[in-house]
Amino acid sequence: MEISITKTTTPKQKPADESKLGFGQYYTDHMFIMNYDEGEGWHNPRIVPYGPFELDPAAMVLHYAQEIFEGMKAYRTADGSIQLFRPDKNMARMNVSCDRLCIPKIDEEFAIKAIKTLVEVDKDWVPSLDGTSLYIRPYIFATDAQVGVHPAKHLTFAIILSPVGAYYPQGIAPVKIFVEQKYVRAVIGGTGFTKAGANYAISLKGQEEAAEQGYVQTLWLDGVERKYVEEVGSMNVFFKIDGEVVTPALVGSILGGITRMSIIELLQSKGYKVSERRLSIDELVEAFKAGKLEEAWGTGTAAVISPIGELKYGDLVMPVNNGEIGEVTHMLYDTLTGIQWGKIKDEFGWTVKID
Ligand SMILES: *Cc1c(COP(=O)(O)O)cnc(C)c1O
Repeated sequence: MEISITKTTTPKQKPADESKLGFGQYYTDHMFIMNYDEGEGWHNPRIVPYGPFELDPAAMVLHYAQEIFEGMKAYRTADGSIQLFRPDKNMARMNVSCDRLCIPKIDEEFAIKAIKTLVEVDKDWVPSLDGTSLYIRPYIFATDAQVGVHPAKHLTFAIILSPVGAYYPQGIAPVKIFVEQKYVRAVIGGTGFTKAGANYAISLKGQEEAAEQGYVQTLWLDGVERKYVEEVGSMNVFFKIDGEVVTPALVGSILGGITRMSIIELLQSKGYKVSERRLSIDELVEAFKAGKLEEAWGTGTAAVISPIGELKYGDLVMPVNNGEIGEVTHMLYDTLTGIQWGKIKDEFGWTVKID
């Protein structure tokens, strides 16, 4: 399929101060769109000026949330070139999400081509200040004008781009995490392993209540026994307990992060043993009490690594590493960001240049 390109005749003013980009505040001049119609498949791929969609008020996505998305970044390297990080993994995961939500699958290679072409068209929007990047948001939603519940026959695949600021403008710092006991995010058999927008809608309430108590994120426990650790906010989670690096196994209710996958491979390449297994909150409490909870961190595309400085479980407040960033956490942050921004040689073949 050829991607047609229609350039804007009224380009926007780019944000002048790259130190004030924040997250998701600005969008570039163009977007990618492709349509699905039953019988025709995915067709009419095009890059057009960024602008609103026209949607029927009965559009299925507005009623039944048949929508999935991805999140990835383009990074500006020191020599001025632009690179992506493991885009094949994001597109493969997108199809996993599609399958679960009865959304027709996309051609992964074609979708990577669409991302590259769009970033190329808007390449002047990729910021270059240290730690900044271009956030890439591919997503698919159901557009059938039909309030009956059924898998959509008409869908839109879109990609938008947003220049984003450094996640840690003041330097990487640990966050406080609230262990959620009232609400759950996902259960096995549900959609926890997918990037379905609906997963986020149902996580807002817990986040809000945690924030009221001064906590930045919630640590989700499993939805059945409320016993096993699953994720922190929208990040995967790792703990270093008595020398062992542990992360919850992907049991079906947990999102398989690309950052998680990369951190495991990175640790293994450096000789660390990583256990992907079930980890109960009681085990964490015991490790804490025995002085064996050495480090904790979250992983995700936005922050890369988010050190955890404190966990609150009921009335128990558990500082991790005296509220300071741990040694392994720091090493992982420096290594992965080094690879992503091209400061460290990529021996894994994870980065993909945009020519
Ligand atoms: C996106 C996401 C992550 C992190 O995935 P990455 O591919 O590393 O960005 C973790 N948990 C949830 C629930 C997510 O939606």
